[in-house]
Amino acid sequence: MPTGDQPQRSRVASANDPGCDFPIQNLPYGVFSTAGSAPRCGVAIGDRILDLAAAEKAGLVAASGTFAAPQMNDFIALGRAAWASVRARLTEILAEGATVDLPLVPMAEATLHLPIRVTEYTDFYASKNHAFNVGVLFRGPENALPPQWTHMPIGYNGRASSVVVSGTPIRRPMAQVKGETGPVWSACRRLDLELELGAIVGVPSTMGERVSVPEAEEMIFGYVLLNDWSARDVQAWEYQPLGPFQSKALGTTISPWIVTQAALEPFRCTGAERANPLLPYLKEDRPGFYDLTIGWTMNGQRMGRTNYNVMYYSSAQQLAHHTETGCPMRVGDLLGSGTISGPSPDQTGALLEMTMGGKNPVTVKGEARTFIEDGDEIDLFAYAESTGYRIGFGPCSGRILPAKDRADA
Ligand code: MN
Repeated sequence: MPTGDQPQRSRVASANDPGCDFPIQNLPYGVFSTAGSAPRCGVAIGDRILDLAAAEKAGLVAASGTFAAPQMNDFIALGRAAWASVRARLTEILAEGATVDLPLVPMAEATLHLPIRVTEYTDFYASKNHAFNVGVLFRGPENALPPQWTHMPIGYNGRASSVVVSGTPIRRPMAQVKGETGPVWSACRRLDLELELGAIVGVPSTMGERVSVPEAEEMIFGYVLLNDWSARDVQAWEYQPLGPFQSKALGTTISPWIVTQAALEPFRCTGAERANPLLPYLKEDRPGFYDLTIGWTMNGQRMGRTNYNVMYYSSAQQLAHHTETGCPMRVGDLLGSGTISGPSPDQTGALLEMTMGGKNPVTVKGEARTFIEDGDEIDLFAYAESTGYRIGFGPCSGRILPAKDRADA
């Protein structure tokens, strides 16, 4: 086999199904446990998980003991050379024809945990369609896109403490919202999702030192699906002048499997057309986006669906901008892409846009919806497709529980 060629098939038969999210070309990392055992690192292959802690113990792979940890941070902190050598070794032992004994666990018997200890969480606003659509609803068409939007990535510093793994229920929040004659205390009436990709920073940067976009590319370990749950009525009342606060702190769901930058590399592509040249510190030396189908379902019904290549700023540009004034980045930093929306309603990544602020209800399994009701389940999906295989992200789901208040409210 010529250097650089990847074996196309795995010894794990289910990984060779063309519709499988986890073929040998993917090898996403996560943290899992089985009945009576502690959480440790694993890699998804077909309908199995390769127990990386056990694999390292058996001498099958070398990662300085980091796979025994209940999060991926320690492995990620080993750096790019370790990422590459472990990926190469995993490809070798999982390939069709390899015969070494493997500690494989059926995924159906495993509980999946948060794959990283989220060090910090920042969320951006990088789809021009989304920024324009939401801007129209909040401020009207004249002021929809703020003047700086096509010049710099806009974001807010979110909460790492409320990031949860797929499958964790989300409680509808109680909050102060705007009533007819003044503020009222109410359960959120406009609960929404945001379809996003989360980039995981794998290499730290130094305080006071800016990183370039090409350097930022080298700092990204991989990506997860990310649902930035949003309380729109809370957001509308609180967001000026400092941006979203409690409307975004109720919970952020991420998928349990981290799809590596290496697995997505064959799908690298350009993003949205630039409205104007960017300042040099935001310029890319190669395309920073991926040809990645991404969408969401509600109670099992297909809703919005678009492609990550509609985005205006890449994760590397967002990361570079994040260090503009010297902010240090750390291993386990999570950067939300911003809601991913195409131009038409069936390509939108939030109900706010899909229903035009609640004016145009959509039908979901025979029921009308403007925003998310109690008991509704939102699932995100994403995959990149090639000949005979696809790089999938697996599930990213959350169900809404009814609001609950303190007895003294
Ligand atoms: Mn968001």
